[in-house]
Amino acid sequence: MTNSTEKAHGWLELLKQQALPNYGDFIQQLAFGEVTDLCQCGCNGFDFFVPDPTRSF
Ligand SMILES: [Zn+2]
Repeated sequence: MTNSTEKAHGWLELLKQQALPNYGDFIQQLAFGEVTDLCQCGCNGFDFFVPDPTRSF
């Protein structure tokens, strides 16, 4: 099976359902960031880029 942005977002959704420490920060980073690169080796890995908030405000 090939990796996809949809799969990456599926993993992020799964993470959102966990009781993570610093949950508020994580949610904010999810809102501003984006999936930028998908690993194609079969591991479902991906890069997630969060832009510097000082640039957009
Ligand atoms: Zn991989």
